[in-house]
Amino acid sequence: MTAIIQIQNVRKVYDTGEVKVEALKGVSFDIVPGEFIAIMGTSGSGKSTLMNILGCLDRPTAGLYRLGGQDVGKLSRYQLAKLRNEKLGFVFQGFNLLKRYTALENVELPLLYAGMGTTERRRKAQAKLELVGLGPRSGHMPNQLSGGQQQRVAIARALVNDPQLLLADEPTGNLDSKTSVEILAEFQRLNRDLGQTIVIVTHEPDIASHTKRCIVVRDGQIAEDYYNDHQVDARDSLAALNNPDSHASNNGKLHNTLPLPTAQPHAASA
Ligand code: ADP
Ligand code: MG
Repeated sequence: MTAIIQIQNVRKVYDTGEVKVEALKGVSFDIVPGEFIAIMGTSGSGKSTLMNILGCLDRPTAGLYRLGGQDVGKLSRYQLAKLRNEKLGFVFQGFNLLKRYTALENVELPLLYAGMGTTERRRKAQAKLELVGLGPRSGHMPNQLSGGQQQRVAIARALVNDPQLLLADEPTGNLDSKTSVEILAEFQRLNRDLGQTIVIVTHEPDIASHTKRCIVVRDGQIAEDYYNDHQVDARDSLAALNNPDSHASNNGKLHNTLPLPTAQPHAASA
């Protein structure tokens, strides 16, 4: 299958004047349609730097980045912004919803920027809210919604352009265990039923075990890249959390209910 993303020997150096920080030291991988990937690593390992490059928010210092076959390094700022709006959707740890706008208006925003007319914008935004189970809440303000619901609005907003790739940086970082698993269930459903390609950044192995593939970043390099033999189904995790008695020995804690991913060498992309 043709890769959506090709990253070859990507380096990123932050030059702050006095010191140079080599945040990425030659990173390579491909992403094909239908993947659900976790980029894992401890704080400072380079995850956000990699995510910013994948999201065309920043450029590599060296190396090749192709998105949908286009060499991102050769694009102007304007072309980069256009590519980002057309091909990518973003979800953030802090939801990043506009407080004074309703759920529907928040989801409409990317279409407004793209210049789409009101009627079509409303229709598309409402459809995405329904997709994430929030159809009846479209008139609510963010502060009238729970954290999990706000993150669903953010997911609907990220999907409103029908992006080829959904990028999420620590999307469950502000949520409790149960709500985190509900959001993972949402991602799994989008990936399974709609074939949505998803990349999430996380430092939690429990979260990563719900994805299909893990790319572990350590000190600016890829330490591991493997497929999950046993992708954990978020519906099973939810059932375990709702029925802690069935796992009496683990006190209902998420991190004890989930098997750890089994490492498997990542076959070179076909
Ligand atoms: P992570 O997201 O895994 O915590 P980051 O990608 O944010 O890691 O950071 C990787 C390294 O790059 C760290 O050493 C960090 O201090 C450094 N870094 C990140 N952003 C900048 C920046 N804008 N200027 C200078 N150094 C940075
Ligand atoms: Mg980070």
